[in-house]
Formats: sequence, structure tokens, C-alpha cells
Amino acid sequence: MSLIPRIAGGPGIRVRSMSGPVLVAVDEDAGALRDVERELRDRYARHYRVVCKRSSQEALACLEELAAAGEEVALVLAGQWLAGMTGSELLDEARHLHPHAKRGLLIAWGAWGDRATGEAIFDSIAHGRIDHYMLRPSTSPDELFHQAISSLLLEWAEARRASPYTIHVVGESWSGRAYQLRDVLGRCAIPHAFCLADSDDGRALLAKAGEGVGLPLVVFPDGTVLTDPSDAEVARAACSAVNVERMDFDLVIVGAGPAGLSAAVYGASEGFSTLVVDEGGIGGQATSSPLIRNYLGFPRGLSGRRLARHAYEQAWVFGANFAFMQRATGLRREHDDFYVALSESGAVRARAVLLATGASYRRLGVPALEGLNGAGVFYGGVTSEAPAMAGQDVYVLGGANSAAQAALHLARYARRVTLLVRAQSLGAGMSRYLVRQLEATPRLRVRLGTEIVGGGGDGWLEHLVLRDRAEGSEETVDAEGLFVMIGARPRTEWLPPEVDRDARGFVLTGTDLRERAWPLDRGPLLLETSMPGVFAAGDVRHGSVKRVASAVGEGSVAIQLLHRLFAADRLHPRGRPKEPAVVAGR
Ligand SMILES: Cc1cc2nc3c(=O)[nH]c(=O)nc-3n(C[C@H](O)[C@H](O)[C@H](O)COP(=O)(O)OP(=O)(O)OC[C@H]3O[C@@H](n4cnc5c(N)ncnc54)[C@H](O)[C@@H]3O)c2cc1C
Repeated sequence: MSLIPRIAGGPGIRVRSMSGPVLVAVDEDAGALRDVERELRDRYARHYRVVCKRSSQEALACLEELAAAGEEVALVLAGQWLAGMTGSELLDEARHLHPHAKRGLLIAWGAWGDRATGEAIFDSIAHGRIDHYMLRPSTSPDELFHQAISSLLLEWAEARRASPYTIHVVGESWSGRAYQLRDVLGRCAIPHAFCLADSDDGRALLAKAGEGVGLPLVVFPDGTVLTDPSDAEVARAACSAVNVERMDFDLVIVGAGPAGLSAAVYGASEGFSTLVVDEGGIGGQATSSPLIRNYLGFPRGLSGRRLARHAYEQAWVFGANFAFMQRATGLRREHDDFYVALSESGAVRARAVLLATGASYRRLGVPALEGLNGAGVFYGGVTSEAPAMAGQDVYVLGGANSAAQAALHLARYARRVTLLVRAQSLGAGMSRYLVRQLEATPRLRVRLGTEIVGGGGDGWLEHLVLRDRAEGSEETVDAEGLFVMIGARPRTEWLPPEVDRDARGFVLTGTDLRERAWPLDRGPLLLETSMPGVFAAGDVRHGSVKRVASAVGEGSVAIQLLHRLFAADRLHPRGRPKEPAVVAGR
């Protein structure tokens, strides 16, 4: 890699239309539409074209014309009640015509708090018909309205790679190394755009970078240019620049998912020198969730990427250090210190370690369904999605107890639930009492010896292709929900045997620890592992709830426990260990 510092600027926001992206609003209430139009024009007319319509027919005709003309629509707003169709239905149509446009439902003040409106909003968001809702503007300027509009426009700009702090990757083709670099930036939740070297933007960037630069090229908003960098170099330049080997830390957190980021925020803000390492980037599993709807304080939901980026910024402001694209490969204790071995550098030293390495769900491996993650296809628990499945045809894939419990729970809401099991019988993977409950539950059926080989939908799951494993025959079925429960695997193979784990590899902590595994006279703290001074939080922990909120909660609790540990010097009550205190890493 070579590093060429500073070139001025980069290509600006790119849009297809000469007159700027379009903001479309429709409301049958003339007064309300006038207010919306005034607010949109006053604030956004310089960069966007504002189009307002009085009826759903006019709005649909306009959206069709814009689509036919190749115009970029950034935002569509619709009043809730329109003649002929609801606002949500119109926004659903808009999704087909302009898949990148953000869609907001305008709510009247009078409807606020009304149960039917609440249910309509919940149902529409759950099924991806709308992105958000907002109150119609009342005063001018109405900053509450503008806050909602500008966050929708930011989401649109980020998705269209048009946000101001975009990193540009220039390559000879979309595939190969340029693709891998984009993947690295994506995993670090960093907005980036790609252009081919022989495109207008590519040529402009290459010209600014100077003579003889190699490809692929990564251009940062501050003008820094990296030519053919490694993954770790890109991550370092984009997110972090500390030399972790030269520093001593109070706390090393392994994993930058919700648990690790939460611990970083609390740890750094409470005065611990903190390092977070992650083999990928920020956010862990949460980044594969396009809309987390059950996280406290976000009634409109928020994307996992956004949550992760805010948490990362928060931790960084408090002074936490980050090392991305660094896999922890070993853990050992020497006297009073822990050493965490890293894949891209040596070992880092710390007084305590938090394991926040999460779990990875076994994926379906059906490409057509990957793009529908969170849009009808869900991994993990069903509790938060179940009410949205009311009256729908829902499938659960899996043959273990968790899949049976999920199917039973869904059967309280869905029109019909089908449990798909690859094996030819239920007995092997499932408790007997659950098998009986499945048999006794109306609206629930079990299909044995069946696998999913295809499926699809336009923005939301619509159908699945099932194959009978014995006969090889295939069948396409209507489906509005698919819950994949084919197992989660903790990534704990790299830990030394002294860190006690359950049969599936999840880390045991606190009262779950087996007595023989605990080496000290004092009892273990709540989230402490069998290696005193090493804690575990989030999905990696045996018995954890496997939710963003609980991972975040555990991350913060771990910091409180660290205070207790350090204050009482209870890590090494010298002379009293039951076993030698030095543990060798692998
Ligand atoms: C598709 C999907 C949708 C979801 N939707 C929701 C939802 O809507 N609401 C909700 O509450 N929950 C949801 N969840 C569950 C939620 O994302 C997890 O419970 C949560 O992310 C767990 O956080 P964590 O920090 O414990 O672990 P993770 O998020 O798994 O993060 C662990 C991190 O550790 C890193 N890591 C692992 N091993 C190493 C190593 N050896 N060295 C360095 N780094 C390592 C990984 O790269 C990863 O970044 C969803 C999960 C998925 C997969």
C-alpha cells in the first residue's frame, strides 16, 4: 500500500436528474397539504424538487411519470386517509416504482394516541410499507417535522451513497479486490461509493490522486488516498489509528457488537482506558437488521448500522480505542495482567477482558432470500415479530425445541404456521411435550423431510420454494413470514480451556459456573467467567437473551462489576488461589 495525503475534495452528490431529487407529498386535506408544501419548499427547495398532489390517483400518476423519466425520488409523504386507498397502500405502491425513496406517513394531531392509528402504523412499518411516520406540520417552521424529514433524507442519501462523508473506492471492475474493500468498509459501517476507473468520476479521482497511482484506490473525504491497501490498513485509516501494542489498557473488549459497544461507552466514560477489537467492524449481528423496532426509545425503529455508528461515535468521544479487522486468537494471564493475541499485530495487555464475541446464526444459504432479511425473513427469536404476523401464512424452519416454541408462539397470531423440518421425524431434536403441543395446536402443521430451496418477493417475502427431500419434488407456496431457527454458534474456539463453556460453546458465567471450574475462594461476579477477571456479555454468554437491548444492558453491567473487582482487588487475592493463577493461551 502507498499513502498519498490530501487531494482536494471528491465528486459531489450525484443524482440522475438535472433538477435534483424529488420530494413528493400527497394529502387530501387542502390545508394540511399547503402546510406540508410550505415547509418542504422553505427548507429544501434549493436541493430538491417539491411536488405536491391532492389525491392518490394524481400522486400515483406523478410517481409513474417520474419513474418512466428516470427521475430520482428521495421521499414520498402521504396523508393517512386518501380516497380509494390508504396512505400506507399508496406508499407501498411507491416502493415498487421508486425502491430507494423513503416513505413517510403523515399523521394528523387528532389521530395521535388513537389506537386504530397506532395499529395501522405498527402494521405498516412491520410489513415494510412505510419507513416512518410523522405529525403533519403545525407551525412554521415546525422543527419536529423537519427532524423527521431530515433523518429520512439522511437515510436516503446514505443508501444512495450520496452522504457528504463518503469514502470512494476506484477499481477496474466491480468484483475482485475492489469488492473486498467495499465489503470491509461496509462491515465498518462506513458510507462508501464505488466507481470504475474508466467512468467520469473514476477519471476525476485518479487525476486528483496524481500520476501513476495503482488500483484499487481508496479516497477519503479529507483527501487521503490509499492505493491497494490491506483490510486492516483500510480499517485503520477509516476508523482507528492507535498502535495497540504500545499501550496498556484497563479493559480489552473483544467484539464490537451491541454488548461490546455498550461496554466501551460505559467503560471509557467511567475512566477506564478501553480498547475494543473486532475481526470485522462495528455492530456485529445487529448490522444485518435493517430495522430494529424493539429497542427502547426508538418508536420508529432504527437500523442496526445506525445504532452501531452512533454507539461507536459515543464510545470514541469518551476516549475508547478501536482496532478493527483484528481477530482475537488467544487469551492468557500472566501475574496480574491478561494478554489478548491479535491476528494483525502482537498481543495487547489489559487488567481485565470482556468477551463480547456474540454468536453467528446458521444462514439459509438461499441467495434469493438473503435480500429479504428483516423484510419477512427473520433469524433468531420471534417475540417481537409475532404480532405483525396476524392473519398471515408463516413458516418456521428448524427441528429443535427453539423452532417448536417459535411455531407455537406464532400460532397465536398467524393464520397458519408451518414448521419445516429437514429430518423425517420430530423425535430426535425436540422434547416430547413440545411435539404433543404441536400436534394439538390448530392452525399449525408440520412438514417433515422438507427444505427451502428458493423464494422471493418484491420488497417483502411473498413466496417460498420447498423441496421434498425424499422425492426431490418442488412446490411454491405463498408465505409472508419465514423464521429461520437452524442454530446459533458462539465463536469461542480461540479461548483457552480455562474459560468454561457449555456443550454448544457458550461461555458460562456467574452462578452458572461449575464449581470445579472456579479457581478462587471468593465467588464469581455476575458476568465473570471461570477465568477471574475475564467477563462475558451478550449473545456469547450461556443463557443470554439474544437481543440487542439485553446485550447492551449486559455490556453496561460488566463495567459496574469491573469497578467492584478493581476496588476490592478481588481479581488476585494473593496467596489464596485454589489453582495456579497463570493460565497459558493457545
Ligand atoms: C438478521 C438479524 C436480525 C436481528 N434483529 C434483531 C432485532 O430486531 N431486535 C433485537 O433485539 N435483536 C435482533 N437480533 C439479535 C441481535 O442482533 C443480537 O442479539 C445482538 O447483536 C447480540 O450482540 P452481541 O454484542 O452480544 O454480539 P454480536 O452482535 O454477535 O457481535 C459480536 C462481535 O464480535 C466479533 N467477534 C467474534 N469473534 C471475534 C474474535 N475472535 N475476535 C474479534 N472479534 C470477534 C464479531 O465480528 C461481532 O462484530 C437480530 C439478529 C440477526 C442476525
